[in-house]
Amino acid sequence: MKIYKLLLAALVFTMVACTQTSPEKPIKKQPVNVILLIADGTGLSQVSSMFFYKDSTPNYARFKNIGLIKTSSSQQLITDSAAGATAFACGVKTYNGAIAVADDSSHVKTIIELITSKNIKTGLIATSSITHATPASFYAHTLSRDSSQEIASYLPNSGVDFFAGGGITHFNKREDGQDLLQKFESEGVFIDTTSLGSFSSINKYDKVGYLLAKDHMKSVKDGRGDFLSKATALGLEFLSKDAINTNFFLMVEGSQVDWGGHANDGDYLVSELIDFDDAVGIALDYAEKDGNTLVIVTADHETGGFTLGSTSKKTKEGKDYSDYNELNMIFSTHGHSATLVPVFAYGPGSENFTGIYENTAIFDKIMEFTGWNK
Ligand code: MG
Ligand code: ZN
Repeated sequence: MKIYKLLLAALVFTMVACTQTSPEKPIKKQPVNVILLIADGTGLSQVSSMFFYKDSTPNYARFKNIGLIKTSSSQQLITDSAAGATAFACGVKTYNGAIAVADDSSHVKTIIELITSKNIKTGLIATSSITHATPASFYAHTLSRDSSQEIASYLPNSGVDFFAGGGITHFNKREDGQDLLQKFESEGVFIDTTSLGSFSSINKYDKVGYLLAKDHMKSVKDGRGDFLSKATALGLEFLSKDAINTNFFLMVEGSQVDWGGHANDGDYLVSELIDFDDAVGIALDYAEKDGNTLVIVTADHETGGFTLGSTSKKTKEGKDYSDYNELNMIFSTHGHSATLVPVFAYGPGSENFTGIYENTAIFDKIMEFTGWNK
């Protein structure tokens, strides 16, 4: 018996020693937090524009793992933001205009619904109304993206721990006469409609929401300032305040890059994307320090058929030529386009985001590599 025990001890020791000194490749680390940043309407030309128009090197340059997604919706070759965001939030392809509902109108569980029950904190930040298609697809279920008041009614008891954006009127000037700002209060969500607070001013609350515009937030050119970066930093601090016990998922949207594309307004587009890139920097700084956070930056689709062309000029003799030293922001449509859009990933699990895949795989990969699907 004694010899048997000794042999067993020796065997266990050898096994432990072997695993400790094994030269085999290290076990890949699993991310525990995820930050998903969506620049609505941003294709490769939009990303490229920052390398010419931003004063400093874009934060996009900090990513090593880059892929491409196919963005078509279930019924249209060219998606809209509702179907695009539903693909990210729920992992299903649906029709254009659908907010977290399937082709057959049935509700599809969103990532926020799936993980709040697992004690994972969640946050949503947008420069549009918080009821606009992209953020809405993470917490509401409506047949149409235009049902802003119906979308708003989902937010008070959605379980979202931190949100920031515009859209007050959809909560307190409603056809049904309800004041959802009071509903937030009864659900234990602290609402501020004046300005982003400091972390110390919100630390004591469990859930916090900022509604800082009647409808959409202002554009950068109209004076929005650094709202997106500040909200991202504040959201990260708030969601990670109890990091020992809880992990988090944060979605950040640069909503208005898309609107610059629709307007065929290059300056609008670029200023919004540069602002979004600053928020990407905040997310990357956090992830670098934390070491357990996966950062994904992508877009729902491209908008405007945007490209950086040359400028057409005439020589003194009247001959046409292209000046290759003067960029010309050219658009080919006022709508969206079907081009593949890039995905940038950083942190544990980021190596799985290379290649070409469907937009729904963003959801699948997040759920799989965090283990949130278990
Ligand atoms: Mg959007
Ligand atoms: Zn759009």
